[in-house]
Amino acid sequence: MNTIIAIDKTGSYRLYAAVTTEMVTAAEEIHQSSNSSFGMVLTAAGLMGLMLKGQRDKLSLIFKNEDNSGEILATANADGHVKGYISEDNINLKGGSLTVIKDLGLKEPYIGKIELESGDISRDLAKYFAVSEQQPSAVALAPNGGFIVQVLPDANDEVISKLEDTLFMMDSIALLIEDAKEDPRELLKLIFKDDIEILDEREIKWQCDCSKDRMAAALVSIGKKDLAEIIEQDGKAELSCHFCRSSYSFTKEELMEIYKNA
Ligand SMILES: [Zn+2]
Repeated sequence: MNTIIAIDKTGSYRLYAAVTTEMVTAAEEIHQSSNSSFGMVLTAAGLMGLMLKGQRDKLSLIFKNEDNSGEILATANADGHVKGYISEDNINLKGGSLTVIKDLGLKEPYIGKIELESGDISRDLAKYFAVSEQQPSAVALAPNGGFIVQVLPDANDEVISKLEDTLFMMDSIALLIEDAKEDPRELLKLIFKDDIEILDEREIKWQCDCSKDRMAAALVSIGKKDLAEIIEQDGKAELSCHFCRSSYSFTKEELMEIYKNA
């Protein structure tokens, strides 16, 4: 298991920690990316996905650059499945925006948005939690893992002040992950010593949920007129998934079937 949910022994804060080397490597290979922010965003989405309560809930993090020309997007669910993409590898996220969309099975999704200041994914996420969710949090992310700490209601002041010291004095999270030999339990022990208790072990992993049916639904959404044009002019369609780059081809017969049902 690469992810741990823990609580401090006084019940003052909750922790979500993961080492996500495998997931990030898979994503970087698919998207030919070496941008360190990509792994951080995927990891953060995975951790935040585990905070969702409903089995079918979903969450997306969308980091856009200042002129909206590029983005890093990651979507995760409560099972720890994560998918995402990066639109350009040299994207600069200083001064852009972060939008968080939570699909909680209600009529309208929850949407929170903040302006990015630092270009530092960890700090921007902490700002999001504070501003949009009124949830005091600390976020420490490396490209291959990290943690999110959330202060709980009725937290003990002394414990929180000790937590702040611990986080302030802490080595860089990338170094700590290395020191912990990529073991999330070891990572937490290095930082929080005996202050915490493990509640649950989970797995965050790269997984896309695309399918031919979903692609067919995407074809329907372009409208009957455009669909007719594709059938007439191309006689086939080739769609590729944004997230995992799998490609799906549709024959003329299949397209006509989709057209009939549209
Ligand atoms: Zn896919």
